[in-house]
Amino acid sequence: MTRTGLALDTLGPTITIGEILVEIMAVDRGTGFLEPITLIGPYPSGAPAIFIDQCARIGGAAGIIACVGDDDFGRVNVARLRADGTDVSAISTDPDFPTGSAFVRYRNDGSRDFVFNIAKSAAAKIDLTSAGRALIDRSGHLHVMGTAFAIPGAAEIIQHAIAVIRERGGTISFDPNVRKELLGDAETRARFARLVDIADLILPSGEELFVAAGVEDEGEAIRALLGRNAKEVALKRGAGGSTVFTREGRRIDCPAFYVEEVDPTGAGDCFGGAYVACRRLGMPIEQALLYANAAGARNVTVRGPMEGAGTLAELDAFIATTPARRS
Ligand code: ATP
Ligand code: MG
Repeated sequence: MTRTGLALDTLGPTITIGEILVEIMAVDRGTGFLEPITLIGPYPSGAPAIFIDQCARIGGAAGIIACVGDDDFGRVNVARLRADGTDVSAISTDPDFPTGSAFVRYRNDGSRDFVFNIAKSAAAKIDLTSAGRALIDRSGHLHVMGTAFAIPGAAEIIQHAIAVIRERGGTISFDPNVRKELLGDAETRARFARLVDIADLILPSGEELFVAAGVEDEGEAIRALLGRNAKEVALKRGAGGSTVFTREGRRIDCPAFYVEEVDPTGAGDCFGGAYVACRRLGMPIEQALLYANAAGARNVTVRGPMEGAGTLAELDAFIATTPARRS
């Protein structure tokens, strides 16, 4: 454990476990996919993949345990993650199932229609392989994405990773990233609650805060989370910016950058990847939070869920040239 509350980057890479997808987007806004429309993609995607790509791009050591199909949708993802510096040794290739995919169309009101192929794709075929074990054995931090709970094999790998990483003196972060409706079954709820109990850092957005804490008032919810193992809660507020609350009672607000939102998908994942990497690189909360806000904001200015993930230099340039919203 370090001054920053998260294990230092030198202990080993930040790892995450879960779905790799391609995203294929409707060019024009509208409802659904019921007639031929112009689509653009494939874009590398999947919440854990976006998180870890941003983590690597900003300079953090990073790796992912996931599964793709033996197809171009898999190759486009692995190539991107590798090029951006992620350890891809524990991405396995399923010979029978295609890479997961998400077709997305934005409606005029900002909500989205999806056609997913995840549960019956390679994304759902993750297993604890020897390469996965080896990555876990040298990692320093585990980031758990709530979306991974939808994947059958993920819970067991996460459980193994938690035990090994704790033993190594590593740390754990949790992005609930889940809608209330998905917490229907008791087993998923129990796994979710366990992560809330043990995470050193929790990064909720919107109503996830209340779901995670089990209370409906922001102050009370934050106190409830900091009363468990968490030393920090980083609350994401979309175009409202973000706030970090610490166990010592500090509150650090960061206003959002003023940008034109082209595609909001992936903002929270980029925010998390940047925040975790920066804290593990030893930055104080204020600096890590500024980079996290910049990473989220920069990513929404570009079409594609991880196309706007920035390097440290790109984020420095973004910060220098982008005004902050008045709060
Ligand atoms: P996702 O939609 O990817 O699940 P999220 O809901 O977890 O994301 P958000 O709060 O939407 O997370 O975004 C994370 C951070 O990115 C915000 O706290 C903010 O700093 C930045 N951000 C997101 N949207 C905007 C925006 N429209 N303008 C400026 N900054 C933004
Ligand atoms: Mg959002």
